[in-house]
Amino acid sequence: MINRRQWLRGLGLALGASAHAGTQAFATPLPQSSAPESSSPGRLALADYEPKSMLQVRETHIERARFPAVDIHTHISVSAKSENGIELAPERKYLGHPAELLAVMDRKNVRAMVNLTGGFDDGLVEAVTKYDKAFPGRFFTFTEPSYSKFLEPNYPRLQAEAIEQAHRAGARGLKILKTLGLYLRENITSGKLVKIDDPRFDPMWDTCGQLNMPVAIHVSDPIAFFTPTDRFNERYEELNNHPDWSFYDHEFPSNAELLEARNRVFARHPKTQFIVLHVGNFSENLANVSENLDRFPNMTVDTAARVGELGRQPRTSRRFFEKYQDRILFGTDATPHGDEFPQQVFNDQLYEIYFRFFETADEYFDYAPAKVPPQGRWRIYGIELPESILHKVYNQNAARLLHITI
Ligand SMILES: [Zn+2]
Repeated sequence: MINRRQWLRGLGLALGASAHAGTQAFATPLPQSSAPESSSPGRLALADYEPKSMLQVRETHIERARFPAVDIHTHISVSAKSENGIELAPERKYLGHPAELLAVMDRKNVRAMVNLTGGFDDGLVEAVTKYDKAFPGRFFTFTEPSYSKFLEPNYPRLQAEAIEQAHRAGARGLKILKTLGLYLRENITSGKLVKIDDPRFDPMWDTCGQLNMPVAIHVSDPIAFFTPTDRFNERYEELNNHPDWSFYDHEFPSNAELLEARNRVFARHPKTQFIVLHVGNFSENLANVSENLDRFPNMTVDTAARVGELGRQPRTSRRFFEKYQDRILFGTDATPHGDEFPQQVFNDQLYEIYFRFFETADEYFDYAPAKVPPQGRWRIYGIELPESILHKVYNQNAARLLHITI
């Protein structure tokens, strides 16, 4: 088995000879003169393969969510400056104007968007002013840690105080990106990786608990990102398009080590509520997520960017939703103009896919608005949740955690 770096080196050579920038010839590369349509079987590049399903099954169009929905996981603003995966500046870059967002929200019955990446200090104040205060009840903003202050000797106290200050400024919760565990290092951008359960963050977790601010936490990534990017990898094309998403390298902890460190934080801070994003960051293994939900009463999950995973195991998912109906929140990871990542691009179609998955028994449909399924080549099945569960997942669970009324 070759390691990731050797593989990338090999890929560089292969792509250097190919006419297609950004596409990987999986089988024998096409001769430059022949178009994909005219190629003979066995000579089609995987990137050019777009099979159309011949299945004749019911197609239900769900125009609006059955109940007003709170999208607990969106990214309306992002840090204006980051280095080696770490957001360093309070300044925000805004990805969508409120008016364009509200138009889609009103069409789809999305009552509110929670902007998780609201930043800190002046950036946070600005984001809250532009969205939450200008359109009450339609936008809620979370704050983020100031990792740029990590080297200051009293960082644990400073960070806890920053949470208090963010709370006063209107932040509804704290967002932790996968930065913690995979990017943040002892010298911020260099040195040893800092562990998720590093005690320097304890005052931050406790302060969130005291202020009733939920912590939306992203730890680790899809399990395929921790295995070699080779012909056995079910997310080969995605990793091929984004080689920096692979954590298959001895330098990184394993998925299991990351989740264990995360779990120690949940155990140590029972009064703090954790919204564990992306279905507990292990949607490929709902038995594991269930086990953790049983162990940690302070844990809830969202569905963001994992409708593809939930929808390919519809019977297991349906049982999961039945059992944990009070602890699952509707989220998409919607990012305005995020066309590069169709599984999370903010638009009407993205919402309709989620609604179709939750509300119908439709079979074998696309989980993302894209020509080729972007997170693995499969399609999904609806789980036809009853109204009582839909109501909880669309808004009641979020309303309880965010202390809002719908
Ligand atoms: Zn996200």
